[in-house]
Amino acid sequence: MTKRYIIGIDLGGTNLRIALFGLGFKIIDRKNLNTANFGQKERLIAAIVDSVNNIIENNRLIKNNILGVGLGLPGPIDVNRGVVHFFPNIPGWCEVNLKKILEKNLKLQVFMDNDANLMALAEYKLGAAKGSKNAVCLTLGTGVGGGIIIEGNLYRGSSFTAGEIGHMPINERGPECNCGGFACLESYIGNRRIMREAQRIFKRDEVSLEELSRMAYHNNKKAARIWSGVGERLGVALVSVVNLLNPDCIVIGGGLANAGRILFDKVEETILTRAMIVQARAVKVRKAKLGNGAGTIGAAILVKENIKMKK
Ligand SMILES: [Zn+2]
Repeated sequence: MTKRYIIGIDLGGTNLRIALFGLGFKIIDRKNLNTANFGQKERLIAAIVDSVNNIIENNRLIKNNILGVGLGLPGPIDVNRGVVHFFPNIPGWCEVNLKKILEKNLKLQVFMDNDANLMALAEYKLGAAKGSKNAVCLTLGTGVGGGIIIEGNLYRGSSFTAGEIGHMPINERGPECNCGGFACLESYIGNRRIMREAQRIFKRDEVSLEELSRMAYHNNKKAARIWSGVGERLGVALVSVVNLLNPDCIVIGGGLANAGRILFDKVEETILTRAMIVQARAVKVRKAKLGNGAGTIGAAILVKENIKMKK
């Protein structure tokens, strides 16, 4: 019998990650490229096609060994048709039928979804939310993304764009957000906002998030106050999520999750003191387990689930 593999791709504003997996999601090979090197849409698509072909050849495989290719993409996607509506941080993409283009060029089956959804799928199947039934997963970085698992399935919503926790307003009025709304959670706890706050408080031109975590860890009161503020604002947003969805698990990943206990303690405390008592007791807050690999793993899981469904 032919041995089968899956290719998982995670396209981000910064990195293009390609990984080859066995059917049990064991990683066999991987490659990271810099998204910015490819500029226009056509060059980026060509880079994806080349990377898939290369990873197959480099591992002495043929197309027949590949069950399918999964892609995690940084924007709203029509999952059924495989159409990219647009990418907020990569210009030049508007209603692109990426599935069709890639399937024609690769002669392989292609499946795609939003990157935060695939991170949630990966954490649910193999990471911090394993064994959970209802989970909410967040990635904290420049943007704040989210994915929702309900009764063991990814909840996508009516146009596949559910889970945008970063764009839940947490105030009546507040800063304008690039989504067109204002007072979005992302404008309060996105990387840029935290760094601006740190620069103001420490009166310095640059304070990195790593430095800010380190300072808090060594009991710097000002740094601790910044993280506790971030934890509280995030906690307040999650109180709404907990009351609305009654999840048993909330997974927090992305760069900011590395701030560790100082952030997680405040999030947990805020949920415990402000969410409704039954919901608050049911939920565990956990740090994501799969790190940067979550996107490609989620993409591989997506392929396996789709192909299984069709059989
Ligand atoms: Zn927004």
